[in-house]
Amino acid sequence: MHTDNLIIGGGISGLYLASKFADQEKDFLLVEARDRLGGRIDNHKGLDLGPTWFWPGQRRMTTLCKNLGISVFEQQNQGDMLYEDPNVQSERIPSQQYQMTSYRVDGGISQIIRGLEHKIPSAKFLLNHQVREIIRTEDGLTVNLNQTTNKSSVSAKRVFLALPPRLAARNMALLRFVE
Ligand SMILES: Cc1cc2nc3c(=O)[nH]c(=O)nc-3n(C[C@H](O)[C@H](O)[C@H](O)COP(=O)(O)OP(=O)(O)OC[C@H]3O[C@@H](n4cnc5c(N)ncnc54)[C@H](O)[C@@H]3O)c2cc1C
Repeated sequence: MHTDNLIIGGGISGLYLASKFADQEKDFLLVEARDRLGGRIDNHKGLDLGPTWFWPGQRRMTTLCKNLGISVFEQQNQGDMLYEDPNVQSERIPSQQYQMTSYRVDGGISQIIRGLEHKIPSAKFLLNHQVREIIRTEDGLTVNLNQTTNKSSVSAKRVFLALPPRLAARNMALLRFVE
């Protein structure tokens, strides 16, 4: 298998890049280790698990939601906040100590993942494929993948790492040059 642009990671970063390639009709493929897209963004029955808010300075998030036709609303922050920690006594924090404008996405932040996913043909995703190794050859890059039982590889002109650098450093052999 060959592609011009190989994106590793199907979180918001990888999906956004994939949507740009799709808009520009460029050749690309996105590989994701898990059986679902979204990465750290996940949602259970409309409830955000993990990432939830964005802030007024993040104009690209506002623009992205607008372009995807997703509505946002301001986080309700009137009243006191109750902070629960299983190891210490719960703490009541008066509203004037934490008030900060933030926004949430109608239906949960995974709406952004669904919106980006709909812009990309499903044939451009390879789920359940974990990248183990990236090898630089004279012709470009070869990316070796592990599936549950099989191994496969993709050759690419360019590779984009859209995952935490810590995971790439720990789990991938990177850019080994083969004569
Ligand atoms: C509990 C929690 C709360 C947060 N709250 C907020 C918040 O309120 N607001 C905010 O702005 N941010 C928040 N964040 C941060 C936000 O979640 C991340 O910045 C963002 O989701 C990162 O997206 P990403 O696409 O860069 O990476 P990720 O979402 O980590 O995506 C990386 C993808 O790469 C895949 N992958 C990893 N290794 C491989 C491999 N070898 N081969 C193939 N695929 C691989 C992973 O499975 C994953 O799908 C929060 C994070 C957490 C954990």
